[in-house]
Amino acid sequence: MGKREGMPGQKNKKARGIWNKISGKYQLKKKLEHLLSMRVALFALIFFTVGTALFAVTVGISAVCREEAMSGRISEVQEYGKFLSNQIVSSGYLAAQGAEVTTELSVAADIFDGRILVVDGNLKVVADTFNNEQGKILLSREVIECIRGMHVCQVKEGEDHIELTLPVKGAENTNVGAIILRASLERENAVVNHVGHSVFIFDVVTLLVAAFVAFFVSGRMTKPFKSIVASIQHVTDGYLEDTVSIGGFYEVKRISDSFNEMLLQMKKVEESRQEFVSNVSHELKTPMTSIKVLADSLTMQGEAPAELYREFLSDITDEIERENKIINDLLSLVRLDRKEAEMHIAQVSINELMEIILKRIKPIAKNRNIELVFESFRPVLAEVDEVKLSLAVSNLIENAVKYNVEDGNVRVSLNADHKYFYISVSDSGIGIPEAAQPFVFDRFYRVDKARSRESGGTGLGLAITKSVVLRHKGTIKVYSRENEGTTFTVRIPLNYIA
Ligand code: ADP
Repeated sequence: MGKREGMPGQKNKKARGIWNKISGKYQLKKKLEHLLSMRVALFALIFFTVGTALFAVTVGISAVCREEAMSGRISEVQEYGKFLSNQIVSSGYLAAQGAEVTTELSVAADIFDGRILVVDGNLKVVADTFNNEQGKILLSREVIECIRGMHVCQVKEGEDHIELTLPVKGAENTNVGAIILRASLERENAVVNHVGHSVFIFDVVTLLVAAFVAFFVSGRMTKPFKSIVASIQHVTDGYLEDTVSIGGFYEVKRISDSFNEMLLQMKKVEESRQEFVSNVSHELKTPMTSIKVLADSLTMQGEAPAELYREFLSDITDEIERENKIINDLLSLVRLDRKEAEMHIAQVSINELMEIILKRIKPIAKNRNIELVFESFRPVLAEVDEVKLSLAVSNLIENAVKYNVEDGNVRVSLNADHKYFYISVSDSGIGIPEAAQPFVFDRFYRVDKARSRESGGTGLGLAITKSVVLRHKGTIKVYSRENEGTTFTVRIPLNYIA
């Protein structure tokens, strides 16, 4: 029993453990994402740039400072060494060590807080202010080289002292001995340390200021992005009417302008979608209303003659056919609109394709005594979707017949160059008013609704044609004059561009 009671508790504990693990991971991911933020990057950039510059300046100042202190000390000791060397020679100190020079050597050693040794030409130490090496032979490379005249002054630098070896020059400028001066660098090191300390304090203060400035600047620079995100979020929440308006930096202004442009496009797309849906509903409703009116009239007639029934039923069939045509055209358009809609591309003889279309339309044209002429300048082979292109060209030629006058004419021509083929359909029909020309390719647009309806039009023909031409990466243009005629020109690449 006890065991059973314990089980749900254990399960809960396990679930809590898993949950904590997941939420921990999520929190960590969030923190890492935050680290990748522009603000952190900007902060780090400013801070590390200032830090690196400070480091370079500090190293430079320390080096220059130490160099200056050292060279000052060296020339000071060197000058004193030369003076002592002269004293040694003039007093014959190397041969007999006079008390006067010995005192001077001791005083000098005190001044330099160091030690002075005098060596004669046989490398024998004749004086040592520490009184340790007197009488001993000093086998030092520096001293030997100095006496041989290889160097004017040898300098050895230590952490806390310098050691200079100078020749003692006798008659005719020959080196008769050497003087070794060891001087303390305590004072120089103190100066260098003092400068280093001051520079360090300056560095810390500057770094703190840099951190503060970096924090402020990075915050200031990323603030507009936060506003943009907030505005975009607002729009995403459904407030499409609002625009993003953020001033400040040029780049930020560009982003907000581009976003507003995109928003405008989205609004246009949404408007046209709504308009399309309302047009579709309206277009589909019209035949339905007619069918209902016809059916209601028949019902109300009571005992109507069979002749009337036949007439009304034939009208109803016409309306159903019309509805069918609209639905089929709509389906064609929707299929063409789908970007992934397959294109069945093959090498097609455009001349043959045109002949077939014209053969089909010729009887319709003949009914209204319209002359239909086809002019082909050369054989054209092109990579096209035969069914779709056939539909597009048929629409153009059917329109040229539909919107023509009795006894009019339609001229269709086919030409090509090395890159494109060109189809032109000209008619001597009613033409399209200039103001209406930009809209003829719009879905459901009709200049004269009644005329279009009378001739079985759906207002979708040119939209389908344009869509097909665009799927072939071609162009279509319209030139028209009212009551004179219309010309549609199509240009399509000979080789299909996927
Ligand atoms: P419809 O089914 O009404 O013919 P279309 O999309 O094919 O629809 O054409 C749109 C409108 O453009 C037509 O209603 C008509 O007013 C006009 N139009 C198209 N072709 C011609 C033409 N060759 N001559 C005059 N008007 C034309």
